Amino acid sequence: MVVTSTRLPTGFAGLDQPDVWPVPRWLVPPRALARPLRTLPGVGTTLEKKLAKLGLETIGDLLGHAPHRYEAPVPERRIADLFGEEEVAITAEVLSVRVRRPRRSLAILAARLADDSGQIDAVWFNQAWLADKLQPGTRVRVRGHLRGRDFNVRSYDLGDAAATADFAPVYPASEDLPPKKIRELVGAALPYARGVPDPLPARLRDEEALPTRADALQALHRPLREEQAEEGRRRLAFDELLVLQLGIARRGRERAATVAPVLGEPGELVARYRRALPFSLTAEQEGAIREIDADLAATIPMQRLLQGDVGSGKTVVALYALLRAVEAGRQGALMVPTETLAEQHFLTLEGICRELDVPCVLLTSALPAKEHAAARAAIASGEARISVGTHALIEEQVAFADLAVAVVDEQHRFGVSQRQALVAAGRASGISAPRAKPAALLNGTASGAEGVEQRAALSEGRAPHVLHMTATPIPRTLALTVYGDLQVSEIARPPADRKPIVTRWVTEERSAEAYRRLRKVLETGRQAYVVCPLIEESETSVARAAEAEADRLRAAELRGLRVGCLHGRLRPAERRDLMARFRARELDVLVATTVIEVGVDVPNATVMIVQEADRFGLAQLHQLRGRVGRGAEQSYCLLVSRAREELTDAAVARLEALVRTTDGFELAEVDLELRGEGQLLGTRQSGLSDLKFTRLRVDRPLLERAREVAAALADAPGPLDADVDRVFGGERELAV
Ligand code: ADP
Ligand code: MG
Repeated sequence: MVVTSTRLPTGFAGLDQPDVWPVPRWLVPPRALARPLRTLPGVGTTLEKKLAKLGLETIGDLLGHAPHRYEAPVPERRIADLFGEEEVAITAEVLSVRVRRPRRSLAILAARLADDSGQIDAVWFNQAWLADKLQPGTRVRVRGHLRGRDFNVRSYDLGDAAATADFAPVYPASEDLPPKKIRELVGAALPYARGVPDPLPARLRDEEALPTRADALQALHRPLREEQAEEGRRRLAFDELLVLQLGIARRGRERAATVAPVLGEPGELVARYRRALPFSLTAEQEGAIREIDADLAATIPMQRLLQGDVGSGKTVVALYALLRAVEAGRQGALMVPTETLAEQHFLTLEGICRELDVPCVLLTSALPAKEHAAARAAIASGEARISVGTHALIEEQVAFADLAVAVVDEQHRFGVSQRQALVAAGRASGISAPRAKPAALLNGTASGAEGVEQRAALSEGRAPHVLHMTATPIPRTLALTVYGDLQVSEIARPPADRKPIVTRWVTEERSAEAYRRLRKVLETGRQAYVVCPLIEESETSVARAAEAEADRLRAAELRGLRVGCLHGRLRPAERRDLMARFRARELDVLVATTVIEVGVDVPNATVMIVQEADRFGLAQLHQLRGRVGRGAEQSYCLLVSRAREELTDAAVARLEALVRTTDGFELAEVDLELRGEGQLLGTRQSGLSDLKFTRLRVDRPLLERAREVAAALADAPGPLDADVDRVFGGERELAV
């Protein structure tokens, strides 16, 4: 298994992507490192569970849990000398402590501190449980800064001086597992680091000026100077980059040895398609199409990433590619991550396909058994020329007659293995084999050249052309790192008649204004979305909460409006019906969970209110916002959050960035800045993007070195092969 996925606790400050949090296993654990964390002193079942939520299960995981920053060295001050905004440390005694709860979601703990120079109120937010530990008489060292007449605490130590020390590592943590606890545990695990074997030969280490892995781990967690931590990080980054580049190099070689159907020049069908579109394609779309056409004319399978912001018009390009397969007498398939999206795409595609006389089918696991079987049969017989679906498309029982072009939408939501399965689906179909006499083949009676060719087609390196699409723009360096030899096309600008979405951020106290704005826009005949975060454990409770919220809104802010409620628990027919009614303007407002995040396309919906917007990740908010602004009308996105003081710095930065810009690339850079590259691509991206140590902004030269070293090492087996297999799913095939 490459990646363990853990759900984060709800509302986890700062890391509150309602997503799956991937933790890679770079450091191949020799036996000691593979030991479960409960072998550490003080770790019981409860703590073990909390650690598992962060993806930490073994000693090796813990040693690979990189600090996201280190405390800067700060001056020690006496209370009487506190002045200005600078960050300082003070050591003092607790005189008294009290907790106030001005709002349900806010607890303010204030401890009166004294040293021999004076007294001050030290303030902690939402850590009421600390009150027990800050009993009068307790000695405490706190690090933070003056805010008005109070001292805002950033970190603290009771007795020891671990968290407030200069260069103290600060770890990614969770609500019920503070950085401090993690620091302690890492300390307990650190002796194991000494025994870590080094996969890099000494000569290579010398050439690259890298410390041993054991030293690197020590430096990472217990640096004496900042440069030391950086050296350690750089070594571990080199390892992970090398593993990636080895995998990519080997995959590239395998791909060069596979064969795809040659589709030749664009023909009559795509010409009709162009005429049938109610608009002409933009220069950006034409550019992408030219690149795709060139790929489809070659025998090497296309592996192209089409990047374009939400609403930039990727789907139109995708359908073009699918139709190229159809006009060559073969099949095309579009795989998307959710049922809602599959249905949406199918509605769009079916309309135009009917016009073009191209049979297409929808295949999702939500279809009733009979329809499911019928769709499968149509795919297997080749009668269905285009299929649209979810993961259902890559289940074993689905066999394509002749798949030539596969499009994976929102590709980052699929894991490597799922994308791989799609390639395999194409391989299993007799891509270039004539479809005559299948029976002969089955009976084993095929003989002569034809039979041989057919068998070869079924067993050997054939693969369909694959187009990956993403609306989460990937900065160029990251694309290079993760995808290596993947070609990239970009739709940098949306169709011309779009006005940038006006985005506003209001706090809950002023949310009434947002709803007033919504009503005003609705009076002009437009429609709206209200998105609720509802990140609960089970889908059922989300559904219930969504319905409850819709009811509440119907009685309050949205009184008198026609309100529908969209969530993941609706049956497909219900969902289709709801979307059809919304499209037909029989509903004014759709109250929705994040299921509307991808693909919902109703140009008349021009307002979106996002409740508790601080709980979403940046990429996700950008995706959500992309549901409006899809027509020529002015659109609005209103982000509602808790009061500013209650938000983490990262949450504030996210919301401000969204207000400032609608440019997905700029937002991707901000996200990179805020989250580090590891999590940029969001969930289940594959082990590939889980760069824990690499910082692409500074590691470009390291990346280049890793590429060169990998090119030299790729052919021979080596000590990193186990890691490569782990990351690339053990099956070094063309995945991405
Ligand atoms: P994406 O998949 O990139 O989010 P879509 O392909 O769904 O974007 O396109 C968004 C909207 O823009 C759709 O309603 C689509 O019909 C429309 N659209 C696409 N291309 C053009 C174009 N060249 N001119 C005008 N509208 C377009
Ligand atoms: Mg799309």
